[in-house]
Parts: sequence; structure tokens; C-alpha cells
Amino acid sequence: MDLGIRGKTAVVCAASKGLGRGCAEALAEAGVDLVINARTAETLEATAKEIRDAYGVRVEAVACDVTSEAGREETLAAARKLTGGGEIDILVNNAGGPPPGMWTDWDESDWLKALNGNMLTPIALMKAVLPGMMEKGWGRVINITSVSVKAPIAILGLSNAARAGLTGYVAGTSRQVAPKGVTINNLLPGTHDTDRIRGVDSGTVKSTGKSIEEVRAERAAAIPVGRYGTAEEFGKACAFLASVHAGFVVGQNWVLDGGQTNATI
Ligand code: NAP
Repeated sequence: MDLGIRGKTAVVCAASKGLGRGCAEALAEAGVDLVINARTAETLEATAKEIRDAYGVRVEAVACDVTSEAGREETLAAARKLTGGGEIDILVNNAGGPPPGMWTDWDESDWLKALNGNMLTPIALMKAVLPGMMEKGWGRVINITSVSVKAPIAILGLSNAARAGLTGYVAGTSRQVAPKGVTINNLLPGTHDTDRIRGVDSGTVKSTGKSIEEVRAERAAAIPVGRYGTAEEFGKACAFLASVHAGFVVGQNWVLDGGQTNATI
């Protein structure tokens, strides 16, 4: 299927690895020029080069912390440069997730950090790019959240709450911008085979004494499709939501979890 977005420009946040990279690659494959960011310059530059070489699109890499105002400004400035002063067409919001813990562990500073990273940062970027998209009459925003919005993961209370806040914001705002041809939707990953999940699995190896193979097999067995998701297939779903064909999809929360969340809707 031709996604109809060749020549458009996207900002993909936290995209040197994992799900963000999956989204960046799928958009590049569809012919979209990119600004990508991540904190570690070396990994980010390597990813940018690999995407340029593979798909022939323009890729600007901005090494920054997207949860800081300076990082967001630098990213948006690179996007303005890439578009020759114009507005971007597609925004993919993403950042690292907050650490696990117990509800008794977290004080105000932990909450402020989580809310900043997983709620206020994507909201700030949306506020910056939505007016330009609305003026042009076309735009796509995709937020990477988590399946924990739909089915809470108790030890990820900071994430559950911050991402639920973002979800509430998207539910209302998406209806306000839709009349101008702009859609906002969320993608809710379940267990995907990325560095983050590999890190969690290594922790389980240490705490249980089981082998990594056992840990992964047990985890995969709890997923109806019997395996972890991949960043590549996650990216394709993102590219579809960014496509011309997804203009009627507004304010939705797509769970990509291999059927693990046992719910009727
Ligand atoms: P990952 O493989 O660890 O990759 C994270 C990417 O984000 C890296 O490129 C990292 O690069 C970048 N990054 C992290 N913090 C950043 C920041 N403050 N500013 C800019 N870039 C930043 O993680 P992932 O599995 O793709 O997860 C992506 C998001 O989805 C996370 O919020 C995670 O909690 C959520 N999620 C993932 C899963 C899953 O199964 N993988 C499930 C549910 C939710 P640097 O470290 O160099 O900055």
C-alpha cells in the first residue's frame, strides 16, 4: 500500500533505538524526511546514517534530552531548517519510561519527573506543532504510550499515571483539531523485544536465578501470539496512522500487545 506521505517531514522523538527507531524506519521507508533525537550522540548518528543509507531520505539527528525545554527547542529548530522554515507534517512523541517501584517510594520530585517526561513533554511538542498543522490543513501526531494505560502494571505506577494523563489530554484535544485535518492517536505497546524489555528480563534473571531463555519463554507464553512484538511491526502501525489513509482515525488508543490484555474492547 502506498501510504501517500512521500516527501513529508516528521519529527520522531527518542528514536535511536527500540520503538522510536521502528517508527522512524517505517516512515523513512514511506519516503518521509526525518528529524530524530536521543541523548547519546554516537548511537543516534549511527542510526541516522543507517536510515539515510537504507531509504535515501534526509535525516537530521539532534542529540538532546527531549524532556528538557532546550532539547525540544533544538529538535523543532532542526525541523524548521529541514522544511525550509515550514511546518512539520508528522510528530511521533516518545521518551524513556519512568523507573519501577512501590507506591510508597515516590515523592513529589519523582512524580514531577515522570509527569514531565511522559505527559508534559509530548503535550509541549503538540502545542508547538499543532497550530502549523492546522493552518496547513493536514497533520498527524502519534504518541507512544503503554499498555499500562489500559491494564495497569502495579510496579509502574509513575508510568500508569503520567501516561493516563496524556491519554486524557489526547481524548479531548484530538476532537478539537480534527476539523482542520489533523489527527492525534496513541499507540500502546505491550511486550516488545527492545533494549528496555531486555533490561527488565535481565533483572528477572538476577532476582529469580532462572536462565534468560526460561524468563523469555515464560513471558512469551503469556502472550496469545506466543512471542514478543518487534520494533519493526510497531513502526508499521505508526506509519499507517501517519498515512493519508488514517484520516478517519481520531483519538484512538491502539493496543499492540499480541492479545495479552484480556479485554473485549
Ligand atoms: P529503548 O529500546 O530503551 O529505547 C529508548 C530510546 O529512547 C533510545 O533511543 C533512547 O536513547 C531514547 N531516549 C530515552 N530517553 C530519552 C530522552 N529523555 N530524550 C531523548 N531520547 C531518549 O525503549 P523502548 O522499548 O523503545 O521504549 C520506548 C517507550 O515505550 C518507553 O517510554 C517505554 O517505557 C515504552 N514502552 C515500551 C514497551 C516495550 O515493550 N518495549 C512496552 C510498554 C511501553 P538515549 O538513551 O540515547 O537517549
